[in-house]
Amino acid sequence: MSESRLYTYVLIGQTETGLSDASQNLMRLIAAAYAGLNASVEVIIVGRNDIPNRDSLDLCGIKKMTHLKSGSTLPDSPGFKGALLELFSHDGIVHIYALNDAHMTGLTASLAAARQWPMFANCTKIENIKNITRPVFGGKIDELRNVSSVSCVITVRPGKEIVDANPVETELKTIELVDTLSGEYKVTLQKNAGKKNVSDASIVISGGRGMKSAENFSALFKLAEIVDGAVGASRPVVDSGWLTHEHQVGQTGSTISPNLYIACGISGSVQHVAGMSTAKCIVAINADKDAPIFSIADYGIVGDVLEILPQLTTEIEILK
Ligand code: FAD
Repeated sequence: MSESRLYTYVLIGQTETGLSDASQNLMRLIAAAYAGLNASVEVIIVGRNDIPNRDSLDLCGIKKMTHLKSGSTLPDSPGFKGALLELFSHDGIVHIYALNDAHMTGLTASLAAARQWPMFANCTKIENIKNITRPVFGGKIDELRNVSSVSCVITVRPGKEIVDANPVETELKTIELVDTLSGEYKVTLQKNAGKKNVSDASIVISGGRGMKSAENFSALFKLAEIVDGAVGASRPVVDSGWLTHEHQVGQTGSTISPNLYIACGISGSVQHVAGMSTAKCIVAINADKDAPIFSIADYGIVGDVLEILPQLTTEIEILK
């Protein structure tokens, strides 16, 4: 163990295809923020698969990496949590970072609760340990945090901008965990089979109650496929069972910052906007010209989304 007083960990959840761009960006971000500090920085990859893109790890700027492997697909299974808590047992200050995505929120919250450390969720900027930015009040105000003297868990909003790489040769160690999941309960992971998820995509096309029915979402999936994007949703869409929760964007869903966000039949409630207001470009299609979503949109189209979407899709198909 290093002699430094500050112990920093970046928790990375494996996806089926390896490590997401957002995960790689997080590692690069933390490497840059902790460069020059007397801190030990380590990446912990949790998941059961081998790491396919091993060489890409060298581009993340963090030398020490551990792969915690278990038979479970769930990062918040008891085996992972117990092993992580053991790793985090230090006398000094411990900082734990993870992406603020559906994959890691359960695990990070339970780690913070187990250690009774504060948790700063959904941060947007990690300049250095004295300057961590977290939007509050539905994104209306940025709170600046100095975490230099406190052990804490920090989750970071997945970013699409590629952070500059600082290559180092990584030392990857693997720890195989004995699976401690008992047969007493069974958890099913809902998968977005073969499709991009909202946290990873740089284009997200979201539908709200204005889409009227589950069947009408096929128009969103069609457009998403053409532009290599993902389909998002407002909460009523998920509550109605039209799409699963992994599609939900907002306060109780995913918080995302894609390059382009197209809101279709979404009114723009504070809870929804909290999850997508940092998108680079926002396009809104809504029948009501006074819908709040237009106040944050870069481009607005007033009209029936069920008529506009097929026309938009045809035009984009022609351009491609
Ligand atoms: P509505 O507000 O009903 O808006 C539908 C919109 O569609 C309207 O603006 C209407 O003009 C438009 N429309 C109707 N027909 C058409 C048409 N044919 N063409 C074009 N436009 C049309 N919500 C989230 O989204 N994400 C969250 O994470 C979330 N978390 C929440 C947490 C809490 C604690 C609470 C209390 C609420 C939360 N909500 C969340 C719910 C939120 O308050 C809103 O109710 C929700 O965002 C509204 O969804 P919507 O815009 O799809 O529906």
